[in-house]
Amino acid sequence: LSSKLPWVGTTIFTVMSKLASDTGAINLSQGFPGFDCSPELVALVEKYMKTGFNQYAPMTGVPVLREALAQKTELLYGVSYHPETEVTVTSGATEALFAAIMAVIRPGDEAIVFEPAYDSYIPAIELNGGIPVLVTLTPPAYAIDWTEVGRKITDKTRLIVVNTPQNPTGRVWTADDLAQLAALVKDRDIWIVSDEVYEHIRFDGRPHLSLATHPVLQERTFVCGSFGKTFHVTGWKIGYCLAPKELSVEFRKIHQYLTFSTITPVQYALADYLKNPVHYETLPDFYERKRNLFLEILRGSRFQFTPTEGSFFQTVSYRAITDEPDYDLAIRLTKEIGVASIPVSVFYRQKNDYNILRFCFAKDDEVLLQAGERLQRL
Ligand code: PMP
Ligand code: GLN
Repeated sequence: LSSKLPWVGTTIFTVMSKLASDTGAINLSQGFPGFDCSPELVALVEKYMKTGFNQYAPMTGVPVLREALAQKTELLYGVSYHPETEVTVTSGATEALFAAIMAVIRPGDEAIVFEPAYDSYIPAIELNGGIPVLVTLTPPAYAIDWTEVGRKITDKTRLIVVNTPQNPTGRVWTADDLAQLAALVKDRDIWIVSDEVYEHIRFDGRPHLSLATHPVLQERTFVCGSFGKTFHVTGWKIGYCLAPKELSVEFRKIHQYLTFSTITPVQYALADYLKNPVHYETLPDFYERKRNLFLEILRGSRFQFTPTEGSFFQTVSYRAITDEPDYDLAIRLTKEIGVASIPVSVFYRQKNDYNILRFCFAKDDEVLLQAGERLQRL
């Protein structure tokens, strides 16, 4: 069989998590919490499983969850999405991203992607015959050069992929970023897929500016979210897509043949849990404390960094320690000092020597301290 993705191997997250597990290293590579979710949420799932909510959910998601998502979006961002026609529950944000990209991209269409980019965007574009057009963001600021973005927009551009807060850099979009993007796409046939899975994990009082908050952007955007990051349940793989009706119609045509629907009892449980805003309002403080602990640890090391603005990742430069390629270093550190990380070059298609590693700090404090003690030895 000739490969449709010849340049793709096993994802770095799988490679590093396996190496960490094989070697017994502390795993700060793949992004997932090292602690469990709320017992209250587990009890809700159990309740629905035991009371007969175990058959197919409606294709678009159970109504109470779509309503809870619409209410949350109205409350936080002041934007109304109709639960019946504009909110769709998916099997993780990964499915939402793929379906949204598939809804937009036809063979030969161009899609602008900011790199470093989360690993699923470019394969999804290429599998649909699209051509990724890369805008490279460089450390330490990872700022977007909007003049360059403007230059890269052509008559063939149909899609721009946005990720805020961004994995792996932690960069959070500002009101100026939104305004610049809006000015570029206004009156053009360009759609936006906005990956906002870290919407509740941002620091130092920064707001999350959903693309839904800007009217010019809202009308052309598929906002993709996930419960995995918000409620510490990455293994449940439940996400969603918010999009205006005409976009949701096309999105749903694809979703119904990708997965059709998503686990029923968990959807009911999430609907109940989501109704109490405390469950997500406390997240920025919870993770800011962990970020600060990790930064304190890094200050005692030779790694250099700018505090991450959002997400549960911190990127660091290791220039002062070694000049070996980041992939080699990530493997060596896992084997030699027992701390696994992600080499940031894998998020770039353009080869580079930025010498950056990504650490996930969504771990218990003792684990972070133990990893810190090892990192400080370098
Ligand atoms: N987007 C980004 C930026 C992510 O980091 C992740 C996974 N951690 C996803 C999407 C996928 O989310 P899900 O697990 O809900 O599919
Ligand atoms: N999003 C997670 C990360 O960036 C990994 C998810 C996955 O393994 N596909 O580490």
